[in-house]
Amino acid sequence: KICVIGSLNMDLVVNVDDMPKVGQTVMGANFKKIPGGKGANQAVAMARLGGSVNIVGSVGDDEFGESLVESLEKDKINTDFIKKNKNVPTGVALITVNKYGNNSIVVAPGANYNLIANDIDKSIDAINNSDMVVTQLEIPIETVRYLLEIAKTIGKYTILNPAPATKLSDEIIKNVDLLTPNETELEILSGIKINNEDDVVFAGKELIKKGVKELIVTLGENGALYISEQKIKKYESFRVKAVDTTAAGDSFTGALAVALVQNKNIDEAIEFASKVGALTVTKEGAQSSLPYIEEVLNFKGE
Ligand code: ADP
Repeated sequence: KICVIGSLNMDLVVNVDDMPKVGQTVMGANFKKIPGGKGANQAVAMARLGGSVNIVGSVGDDEFGESLVESLEKDKINTDFIKKNKNVPTGVALITVNKYGNNSIVVAPGANYNLIANDIDKSIDAINNSDMVVTQLEIPIETVRYLLEIAKTIGKYTILNPAPATKLSDEIIKNVDLLTPNETELEILSGIKINNEDDVVFAGKELIKKGVKELIVTLGENGALYISEQKIKKYESFRVKAVDTTAAGDSFTGALAVALVQNKNIDEAIEFASKVGALTVTKEGAQSSLPYIEEVLNFKGE
């Protein structure tokens, strides 16, 4: 079992040719409402890949909140530990996707920022009943700190996907078993400018010195780099035609968690996660693009 503690957002998505510059208005098309939020995306990725998932999160007492919970239940995720707030709106993400499939995102966290340490205490059963705790940084940083401390105290394996990027205290870092940053996130976490793979390894090693056990740095279409005290290994990505990169990192982290909780070794886990990440970029949206296990098992790459 996996416990995901994180954000739930309604993604409001529009396609554009080119991103607007500051002060500019551009016409878009294909407005869609798609369930998202890094916590919910990772939970859904796991459930579709065969994981058994509890989610701890926070929504508003409104239409978006209701439809987010409903969509998680469709994917057979336990939503008993989602808090419903009066007078605070459900989180939303305003997403534009350009003609190259790249996105730019503004998040209004709303109820996600109402998830506090006390809610972790209230959700202790969900954590206790899981083998693994997975979290991200779209909830208050103090909640993340407290959660990781509790999880390590009771002996759970912890995965932190440090997104969106921010600096983290050593107290947080030392309670992370597996960190899954992309290059930008690694750069901000380590304070080291990254221009090439040697820089990635150097920055990763700095975080290992601070107590992270292992890192898997995702490099988009260039694959992923595994870094631990003893080992460094590069994994190539699968070649696909990218349509929309939203949720690639979420699906990758979700897939890793499922593979590791099933006791797959790190090579198998990263290969599996790379397939899942590749499949995710071939479809639009966040949860709408997350693949099911059958698709992954049938996928050989192009
Ligand atoms: P994030 O969305 O957090 O920036 P990445 O873009 O690094 O994450 O993507 C996560 C993983 O998904 C990559 O390590 C890779 O395996 C896969 N992936 C992402 N983009 C592509 C792509 N264009 N083609 C194939 N695989 C991709």
